[in-house]
Amino acid sequence: MTAARHPPRKRFGQNFLVDRQYIDRIVAAVDPAPDDNIVEIGPGLGALTRPLLARVKRLAVIEIDRDLAARLSAEFSPDRLRMHNVDALTFDFATLGRELRVIGNLPYNISSPMLFHLAQYETNLRDATVMLQREVVQRMAAAPATPDYGRLSVMLQTRFRIERLFIVPPGAFRPMPLVDSAIARLTPLERARAQIDDEALFARVVAAAFGQRRKTLKNALKLLATEEELEREGIAPGVRGETLAVSDFVRLANALARNL
Ligand code: SAM
Repeated sequence: MTAARHPPRKRFGQNFLVDRQYIDRIVAAVDPAPDDNIVEIGPGLGALTRPLLARVKRLAVIEIDRDLAARLSAEFSPDRLRMHNVDALTFDFATLGRELRVIGNLPYNISSPMLFHLAQYETNLRDATVMLQREVVQRMAAAPATPDYGRLSVMLQTRFRIERLFIVPPGAFRPMPLVDSAIARLTPLERARAQIDDEALFARVVAAAFGQRRKTLKNALKLLATEEELEREGIAPGVRGETLAVSDFVRLANALARNL
């Protein structure tokens, strides 16, 4: 099966990995054991699927492209490769059970929604090793008061430890993307995870704080918190949201949840 026989579909973000060295590094980063419960998002032409199947007994895959799904399904028996020919953005990962290990060279056009969707299944996950645009990985792992720190950083860092593993250059793909890619590993914090009393309110506070980055917190959170409420939590109303640590957002949202 070669990329030449499948015209890459832009709408599905199809850039296929062709560099053996990087394929091996990604699989080595996952280091799969034969009985691991693994799901690959977007297997495409199978660049990662084949070496994974060489190491595990069975593998679930989620592929939206009907043609690619049919090709891969024809190559492996259904007891080894469980194909879900659906949109991963609406897929219920809980149906795959616990201790789930996710791997995926994710389509760049849906990277943030895909990460938010996956984050909902944190209690099912053992880890997720994903390839994304390099700048998205920088945003995921960013520290407060840096330009990359934002909603994605806070929402993911409350739930996961995020490691930046390595960069993958455009030349490793066909067709070549315009930007560098990077591999990130997300591992649920489990017991180290902060208690968030009202997840929906927390998400609203974080979204509002970063909605207009140039605004001070008292303005950005006008509809959610008073200046007094901010001060009571030790947060200066005149600062910008990007200076708050993840723990500040948790403390503030929990205090607001108590006042509801
Ligand atoms: N894993 C392959 C590789 O590394 O060569 C393909 C990676 S390519 C960047 C992304 C893959 O995800 C494509 O096969 C594409 O069809 C698939 N895809 C795109 N959107 C998807 C979605 N919403 N749900 C599931 N698969 C999707």
